[in-house]
Amino acid sequence: MSKSVSADQFKKAIDGAGIESVKYWSGWKNEWRGMKWKGKNNNPQFLVLHHTAGASTDSTDPKHKGNQTSADEGQAKFVNRHPSFDPSLPASQFTLRRSGHLDVNTFNVCYHAGEGSFKGTEWSGHSVPDNAGNSYGLGIEIVSKGQKDDLTEAQWQTLARLAVALKDLYGWKDTSTYYFPRHKDWAPKRKVDIKASNSKVQKKFTEYAGQWDGHTPDYDVLKKADEDRTLASKAVWRLACRLADIGYGSKNWKPELYVQTWPVKTMIEYNERWAPDMEDKSVLGPKAFTRIFEEGK
Ligand SMILES: [Zn+2]
Repeated sequence: MSKSVSADQFKKAIDGAGIESVKYWSGWKNEWRGMKWKGKNNNPQFLVLHHTAGASTDSTDPKHKGNQTSADEGQAKFVNRHPSFDPSLPASQFTLRRSGHLDVNTFNVCYHAGEGSFKGTEWSGHSVPDNAGNSYGLGIEIVSKGQKDDLTEAQWQTLARLAVALKDLYGWKDTSTYYFPRHKDWAPKRKVDIKASNSKVQKKFTEYAGQWDGHTPDYDVLKKADEDRTLASKAVWRLACRLADIGYGSKNWKPELYVQTWPVKTMIEYNERWAPDMEDKSVLGPKAFTRIFEEGK
C-alpha cells in the first residue's frame, strides 16, 4: 500500500480473511482525538498482542459456556469504549473473543500500547520513537485469564487469519514476530501480555495460515473446470485452497497445484450448508463464488 488504507479497504480485507464471525462496533471509522497513523505511508506497521486477563474461564474446550461468543460481551464492550478514558474510546483496534469471534473497535489510532520502547530490540527497525507505539501499531485484546497459556484454538485460528489479512492490506513483508510483537516486547518492565512465547505464536500462525494465495480466479475460468472436471487448473486449485482455508473439506486437506481437480465432495459439503435446495450441489453458483472469495464464508 503506497497510500493510507481507507475504511472500505480495511473492511474488505477483514471480511475476506476467512474469519467466521466479525462485528464492527458503531463508530469504528471514527478518528479519535485527531490522532493519525505515523507509520510508513501513514499506515500502521505492526500489530501488538494483548490479553484482557478478564476471561471467565481458562478452559480451552470450545463447548465450555465461557467460550461462547456471548460470554465475552462484557469484555468486548469494555474494550470498545474504555471507561477510564475520558471521553471513553477504544482500548484497542480489535477484541478477540474465546469463541474466535472478532470485534472491530476502530481502524484508526487509539490507546493500547502505553509507555515503552523498541530501542535495542529486534523491532528497532520500525523506528518508533519511545512511548509512541500507539501511532505506529494496531492492537488486539485477546480475551484470556492471562494466568497461563490458555488461548483457545478458535482464537489462534482467527489471529492467524487476521495476521495474513493485515500483512496483505498494509504491505508488511510477512507474518513474522517483527510484525506481531507482544505487549511485553514493547513494555517489558510493566507488562506480561501475552503469555505465549513468540515462537508459539509463529507455530500457530503456520498451523492455521491459509493456503490460498489471495488471488481471486476469474469466474468464467472456474466454470470451465466445473464443466470439465478433469481440468487441474490454477483456478481450481485456488477454489480448493480457499474452501480448505474457510473450513471445508477434510481437516488436513492440502490441495496441490496442477493436480487438484474439481473438489466435488467439498462443493457438495459447502452447498449443503448454504444452498440446501440446489439440485446439483457439486456445482459452483455465482453467489457462492462471491461468498467464498470475497466474504470468506
Ligand atoms: Zn496489553
